[in-house]
Amino acid sequence: MRKTSFYPNLENMLADIEAEARETAIYTGRRTFSKEVMAAFTRVPRHEFVPDDLKRQAYINSPLPIGHGQTISQPYIVALMTDLLDIGNKDAVVLEVGTGCGYQTAILAEIARQVYSIEIIKELAEQADRRMKDLDYTNVKIKAGDGYLGWPEHAPFDGILVTAAAPEVPMALIEQLKPGGRLVIPVGALFMTQNLMLIRKNDDASVTQQAIIPVSFVPFRRSLQSATI
Ligand code: SAH
Repeated sequence: MRKTSFYPNLENMLADIEAEARETAIYTGRRTFSKEVMAAFTRVPRHEFVPDDLKRQAYINSPLPIGHGQTISQPYIVALMTDLLDIGNKDAVVLEVGTGCGYQTAILAEIARQVYSIEIIKELAEQADRRMKDLDYTNVKIKAGDGYLGWPEHAPFDGILVTAAAPEVPMALIEQLKPGGRLVIPVGALFMTQNLMLIRKNDDASVTQQAIIPVSFVPFRRSLQSATI
């Protein structure tokens, strides 16, 4: 564990995640998250992923702005999505679409064997890549690009997690799942209600999907850009 003066607040964040898990169990069907998921939260220093002027708020269970019109996701949502991927006991290879600051990437890297992550804003991809190296994550590979197409060179994946809301589920991502693999993705058109969807590829390659809970994510974009919104 990387100890710093911010860590006393970590306990509050974990308690808030656990409280929200209980409050939302009616939607999610789970009152708690797995021990692997909760343990990952004790190891990732969230204050290293937020801008300097927001470090004091880093362990609040809330999304925060990270620049470029983007956000770091709410810790509870990161926990829920990671739990839904169900990669705890596997030698898992995971794809993330929407690296942002890389917080979710780091949580996944604590659990999975290898994490690939794609970010469409080049500056964010570069910053996240540097941050992962500074924090000694050796099992993460980040690239700037459009995650709509997945990352075929490294497919198939045990799990795919998308952290920007798409109007529909990208076919390429379903294709790049292993049989038995899971895709967790917020789905909803711009300014419409979004639903966090859990999509499972069965062993016979058929697909089942389940709406888990209404969510609010930044929109999925389709062209590589370095400008703000
Ligand atoms: N995973 C982040 C949340 C990032 S917010 C966290 O842990 O906090 C969603 C990110 O998705 C934004 O940085 C946005 O630029 C990125 N994004 C949007 N459309 C994308 C696309 N088509 N491909 C890859 N990344 C995309």
